[in-house]
Amino acid sequence: MKQTISILGSTGSIGQSTLDVIARHPEKFEVHALTANQDVARMLEQCKRFKPRLVVMTQLAAANQVRAQLQQAGLNTEVLSGTGSLDLVASAPEVDVVMAAIVGSAGLSSCLAAAKTGKKLLLANKEALVVGGEVFMQAVQSGKARLLPIDSEHSAIFQSLPEDPSTWSERLDKIILTASGGPFRNWPLQDIAKATVEQACAHPTWVMGRKISVDSATMMNKALEVIEAHYLFGVAPSKIEVVIHPQSVIHSMVQFKDASVVAQLGTPDMRVPIAYGLSWPNRMESGAKALDFSSLSAMTFESFEDPNHQARYPGLALAFKALEHKAGMPGVLNAANEEAVQAFLDGRISFGQIHQVNVATLEAYSPKAPVDLADLMGIDQEARRVAQSQIEVLKAC
Ligand code: NAD
Ligand code: MG
Repeated sequence: MKQTISILGSTGSIGQSTLDVIARHPEKFEVHALTANQDVARMLEQCKRFKPRLVVMTQLAAANQVRAQLQQAGLNTEVLSGTGSLDLVASAPEVDVVMAAIVGSAGLSSCLAAAKTGKKLLLANKEALVVGGEVFMQAVQSGKARLLPIDSEHSAIFQSLPEDPSTWSERLDKIILTASGGPFRNWPLQDIAKATVEQACAHPTWVMGRKISVDSATMMNKALEVIEAHYLFGVAPSKIEVVIHPQSVIHSMVQFKDASVVAQLGTPDMRVPIAYGLSWPNRMESGAKALDFSSLSAMTFESFEDPNHQARYPGLALAFKALEHKAGMPGVLNAANEEAVQAFLDGRISFGQIHQVNVATLEAYSPKAPVDLADLMGIDQEARRVAQSQIEVLKAC
């Protein structure tokens, strides 16, 4: 029997890799819906190839263009617009699997819709879990959804843990997340604050969307991943360690109580965790190349305790600060960072000022613990407003 899938954010880096994997297994998957914000050309290409029943373009003008061009091409795909339509295709009764590959908290509502309706939810959209926190995990539990991590580190941890989650807390000592160190690992410290958008987006080992590429350069990506690991695996922040591993061969590790360490290795290709999520608990061909150990010259590691790295990557500590605080603070950090990264990509602030916006927003706004989607979205909006005013202050300096 084929599994029916909705891919939220199909035109992005993860969305395209997901379609690449699915195309290798036409007997296993049928595309129900594809969604994007506004990339009309790529969506048309994907519709012609994968023939989804539904398309959502969140921007109305983009939806109108896609609808007109699909009609001209003789395809009867239904085209919807607006963010509410994302919830609809994430929770439709005929959908078995949802790939959550929207970037940012814009994907939160549709992730919750998929969780509440008991889907197999493949989570790439880490910001949704960072913002959703306990509320998200409760929706997964009460909806009887199957949440599978797609972020390479979390997929690695999931692959390294025993299958039965009820055994994790008694066996696990700590989680070790690996980080490549990003494009500025060897830059002179004083040059980093003035880095350009092109320099920040030039990741040394992974090819990704622009937002996550900037997050990898500031190390905010790893900060979000610490929070993601805390919620996904129920592990205290003090039991999560980050280590720099520039070759990105080990995607993360689990250390057990007996000091044994289990790691997952592979080439840096997101089709591996995507294929694992799609085929779990089985395995299927992903299209990725296997590691060639005969040409692998070295695997090296650098500690974050090194004062040089602490000065280079000040963003990582903000994850632990946000988690120390009551629920809601990870959402504040995420919203501030989304606004700051967008301001950097638009040329409104410098690379170094991203961190300043994040710190200032965390200091200025301390929300009440959220209990539902409305609370989460309220915190997101208020934190964005605070971050925007910090950005205005910095621009005026
Ligand atoms: P991307 O920018 O390449 O793609 C984002 C997708 O989301 C696009 O389809 C876009 O149309 C859609 N989108 C953007 N804003 C939207 C909005 N406001 N409403 C609805 N749709 C919107 O991003 P990506 O690199 O594919 O990353 C997607 C998610 O996966 C992010 O949360 C990222 O952190 C996570 N992730 C990505 C990678 C990677 O290798 N790219 C690895 C691990 C995790
Ligand atoms: Mg990752």
